[in-house]
Amino acid sequence: MFLRDELVEKAKGAEFDLLVIGGGITGAGIARDAVRRGLRVVLLEQGDLASGTSSRSSKLVHGGLRYLEQGEFSLVFEAVSERRTLMDIAPHLVNPLGFVFPVFESSRRGVLTIDLGMWIYDGLSLFRSPKIHKRLSKKQVAKVEPTLRNHDLKGAELYYDCSTDDARLTLETAIDAVHNGAVVATWCRVEELTHDERGRASGAVVRDRLTDERFEVQAAVVVNATGPWTDRTRRMAIGDTADPLLRPTKGIHLVVSAARLKVNNAVVMMHPEDGRVLFAIPWGEETYVGTTDTDWDGDPAEVAADSNDIDYILESVNYFFPEVDLNREDVVSTWAGLRPLITEAGVDESSVSREHRLVMESDGVITIAGGKLTTYRKMAAEVVDHAVDLLRLLGQAPVTMRPANTHREPLPGAIGWPEDDDHAVVAQQIRDVSEGHIDQATSALLTDSYGMRGVDIARRVASDPALAVPLLEGRPEILAQVDWAVERELAATLQDVLIRRTQLYFRDRDQGVEAVEPVLDRLATLLGWDDAERERQRADFAVEVAQARAWRTG
Ligand code: FAD
Repeated sequence: MFLRDELVEKAKGAEFDLLVIGGGITGAGIARDAVRRGLRVVLLEQGDLASGTSSRSSKLVHGGLRYLEQGEFSLVFEAVSERRTLMDIAPHLVNPLGFVFPVFESSRRGVLTIDLGMWIYDGLSLFRSPKIHKRLSKKQVAKVEPTLRNHDLKGAELYYDCSTDDARLTLETAIDAVHNGAVVATWCRVEELTHDERGRASGAVVRDRLTDERFEVQAAVVVNATGPWTDRTRRMAIGDTADPLLRPTKGIHLVVSAARLKVNNAVVMMHPEDGRVLFAIPWGEETYVGTTDTDWDGDPAEVAADSNDIDYILESVNYFFPEVDLNREDVVSTWAGLRPLITEAGVDESSVSREHRLVMESDGVITIAGGKLTTYRKMAAEVVDHAVDLLRLLGQAPVTMRPANTHREPLPGAIGWPEDDDHAVVAQQIRDVSEGHIDQATSALLTDSYGMRGVDIARRVASDPALAVPLLEGRPEILAQVDWAVERELAATLQDVLIRRTQLYFRDRDQGVEAVEPVLDRLATLLGWDDAERERQRADFAVEVAQARAWRTG
């Protein structure tokens, strides 16, 4: 067991080799890699882990077929190689997903061109794709995706990439870092950087946003991994003089019930207005659709879907699924994120490169900007290589260092995962261990979310069956997940639990509001909250709910 407060205590006043600012996938990846090499690491995150872009992506671990068209072969090659690695180290979270790419009489590219693209795509993965693509006739498409537009359809390509749970991939990466000795302090915002007498960054002044306490952290090397906040953090390092490194663009997704829009694979849609690529992606009992791509220069914390975004996506869905006739009332929830893209003059939003860039600031801070969820592990290794070089230059590198082996060491939920990747076997084990207190739907949820750690949750349920109570009537999420979130997953607030640990906020039409009181009761017991704290938590969660619904009134 490790609680957030205990980790924050460990950060205070201590000296580290490496301070990582930002607990998205990039920062978590850096912390994991560095601590596994033997560095003393602290990671500071201003909110919850993955509360920025890393829980608001399209949740795909993919090569990015459309980057082929932009000629970014090396990016695609790296991404498809990483897809294979992530399938190996996180098989419970990174799962093969079929993509149906329909071709119509009016399509800009014919079947042959798309087929050629598919061969290159599978070829770049050295034919180690989850499965090799195949061509579907019009008749076969109707069978595979019965609700997809049939008018003028010539056929489709069925190819494979992977889906994931972005928030959990980030979380498990950070948890593995903690298991290996890293200090990961959430809800701790870096407010200033400190510098030594020669002007070199030497740590940070931090505010614990849950207690309002300010404290200092010392480190030999500081890394800025703050995604869309990158330029704000750079200003702490080198002042206002630097030109912006990023050109953030906003992307939103909307969630609808699978009963309204049922897809058996991810379906690729070229928007009828501007030809941009969108996906309709199966998500258990729900389907999500996205994304948009528009420039954003506001506060990253305020990014949200607006009504134009929703209409844009609905227009595409209704064109490709004409009989479904989706409308605003069907929207269960939304999320919006900012792509931390590198500035490129004279280029439109969708064409900005997804490559990353490493910058050594004049005060020694290492900034990592850009990139993708899929390639986080490679990016992280590159950053740590630079950090180690810097430590050596400073004469502060540890005497013994180890290889990080992040390409083969499983994430926590993957330890003991079946060789044949059979989720059903793990789900059965969870039901057996729970001694009949966990049903089919909950065991599937626990398997897909926690991997083999779902069995540990089942063990708790077996010894205290009250933990099997659903958080919301008729849904699979159970009370045991709240305990687990606090004791094993660094959850420290109501929103951590409802938004990113259970994800009720996205899956439930009412954003999980009905679960607030039972979850608060449990959290109050676990964390010793009084009435005033409960009220604060309710209010903070209400702000998040309002943000997800802002498009309805905006
Ligand atoms: P973030 O996740 O934003 O993390 C940065 C963190 O820094 C934040 O949590 C923030 O709170 C913290 N922070 C900021 N300032 C401070 C401070 N002063 N002190 C402490 N902490 C601070 N990639 C894919 O591979 N596949 C996809 O399907 C995909 N889809 C996408 C769809 C959309 C709509 C978007 C927006 C992106 C998508 N991406 C995808 C890209 C991918 O999501 C991002 O590249 C990745 O999540 C960025 O992670 P990050 O850690 O760099 O940034």
